[in-house]
Amino acid sequence: MDVPRRHIPGVPGVVTDGVAAGARILAAGGLVAFPTETVYGLGADARNPDAVARIFAAKGRPTDHPLICHIASVDDLAPLVAEVTPAARALADAFWPGPLTLVMTRSAAVPDAVTGGRDTVAVRVPDHPVALALLRAFGGPVAAPSANRFGRPSPTRADDVRDELGDGVDLVLDGGPCAIGVESTVLDLVSDPPQVLRPGGISADDIARVMNAPVSATSSGPARAPGMLEAHYAPGARVEVVSADAAAARAADLTAAGTSVALLAPHAISPLPDSVLVLGPAGAPDAYAALLYAAFRRADAARCQVILAVPPPARGIGVAVRDRLARAAASA
Ligand code: AMP
Ligand code: MG
Repeated sequence: MDVPRRHIPGVPGVVTDGVAAGARILAAGGLVAFPTETVYGLGADARNPDAVARIFAAKGRPTDHPLICHIASVDDLAPLVAEVTPAARALADAFWPGPLTLVMTRSAAVPDAVTGGRDTVAVRVPDHPVALALLRAFGGPVAAPSANRFGRPSPTRADDVRDELGDGVDLVLDGGPCAIGVESTVLDLVSDPPQVLRPGGISADDIARVMNAPVSATSSGPARAPGMLEAHYAPGARVEVVSADAAAARAADLTAAGTSVALLAPHAISPLPDSVLVLGPAGAPDAYAALLYAAFRRADAARCQVILAVPPPARGIGVAVRDRLARAAASA
């Protein structure tokens, strides 16, 4: 590709050139990493199977793991799905742009490369000015998983994308740190009742209120959604989930055994050995989510061997944070 690899720094409004370059790269079959309100995505033209194949290669991701199609507005949904159902319309009106991904029966326009051969497609409208500008300038659906190597924490800053993917991506658009910090809620609208496949920024209760009907919350177990592995989102350090009461003693034991420790908790824990890298306090669930993956990366940069994580309460996005911590811990 003859488009230069370059990083366009800055804030929304200062990236017009970057957005135009991004749209050209997508049209030419290239890969563009872009900010969303959840995490950074690694985008390709969803209608171009060769471009989509490059996503899997860049991430090292198994090709049967489906991708999310990003669109600029609900008006772009109809070509991707068999039918825009009343439930999809109501949820889109309530939550788009926003961190809710809808899994629906796909149309013939969506290539197998995007869905891993399934008859369903996952779609959302991201709530970020740079993502929306890119989607509008490109004028088509963009397939984009998180812009990390397979199994690793999602990137929440442009620098994280460059560290993860390096030359594997043609352009990184920098929109600053992601406001939400964990991936979107994935809702399967094909199953009855609809089921949350992955908890995220929008809760099962929020969804049930809009649908005025029951919604099943995330089930546990390895196979609840394609690509949702029990072990995922893992930093290099081993993650251990501990209660607030047990954290200080566990940090002391590990440190005494010569293990380097980082601690992530909603509030201050004491007493702690001086050598412990304190990644927080993270605060309320929203703040915890926004900090989570950057904290994982900070612990890795400091070469910590263990991250002790005291989870946030299971309310709001705290449910999603606890899900990611459990998956990161399962990789140990
Ligand atoms: P990521 O893009 O890294 O946030 O991962 C996308 C996730 O969306 C996958 O891991 C799946 O859990 C979910 N997903 C995408 N497409 C489908 C689909 N057709 N059916 C069920 N889940 C899907
Ligand atoms: Mg991912």
